[in-house]
Amino acid sequence: MLGHKLFHAKCNWVDKMKKWLLLGITLYSTNLAAFPHANPVPGGIAVVPVAPLSDPLPIVQYGNQRVTVVAQGNQWIALVGISLDAQPGSQRLSINQGKPASFQIGNKQYKTQRISIKDKNKVNPDEESSQRIVQELKVQKQVKTRFSANIKADLNFIKPVPGHDTGRFGLRRIINSQPRNPHSGMDIAAATGTPIKATASGTVLHIDDFFFSGKTVYVDHGSGVISMYAHLSQILVKPGDSVQQGDFVGKVGSTGRATGPHLHWSVYLNGQAVDPSLFLPPKN
Ligand SMILES: [Zn+2]
Repeated sequence: MLGHKLFHAKCNWVDKMKKWLLLGITLYSTNLAAFPHANPVPGGIAVVPVAPLSDPLPIVQYGNQRVTVVAQGNQWIALVGISLDAQPGSQRLSINQGKPASFQIGNKQYKTQRISIKDKNKVNPDEESSQRIVQELKVQKQVKTRFSANIKADLNFIKPVPGHDTGRFGLRRIINSQPRNPHSGMDIAAATGTPIKATASGTVLHIDDFFFSGKTVYVDHGSGVISMYAHLSQILVKPGDSVQQGDFVGKVGSTGRATGPHLHWSVYLNGQAVDPSLFLPPKN
């Protein structure tokens, strides 16, 4: 009987030590870990605690899309990408263990941008181009919704080229007087040929030459975090290549539908384009 009690006392002591050790490791890694800023609006990120870190990694879904989950503090946190055309209101996340979680989408009105494009076929594509666009949309959807579950997300981001963010993320666009999809990335002004750095470590997921995005590179940063670099003059990587943060993936250009040389940089979470500036220190 006494032995039994001692055994339990010892177990409790070991458990407590384990908890303290885990807490210590967690605090240590939290201080080092990069983390996007929460901004739960269309085109932003909801940061939602979903389970204590003592639980196994939860599998979280938003609609039918798996959501990036990372450790922070003593919790598992879901980083939910919110669609640019989402409506404000309450949203639900399903979790494989325990109760669902919810979050609120706030209101955000993006300004309207009017652009003039000389190449008329890039605004009102002919039949052949339209078929090409439909095919490319399928490829793009598949690529941006990739979820590499066995790779921990690398959220330690840098700006891919130095230069001015022209502040166009989310703008509703009127091109040659016709409404078009909202702008789903950050445009950074840079000269043709400027080398483009991988924003974080990862694996080159796809390269292509698209009708609208021109020469494009996608990098998979693990667990549903994907970056995309568009309108390149040159691509310097191939699918399957491992890249470290800062490795060159291509050079700035103006291929596809672009008004001039610049880098279009997109970041996807659960397949939704979110504002890349949320991953950078303020005023980057
Ligand atoms: Zn752009």
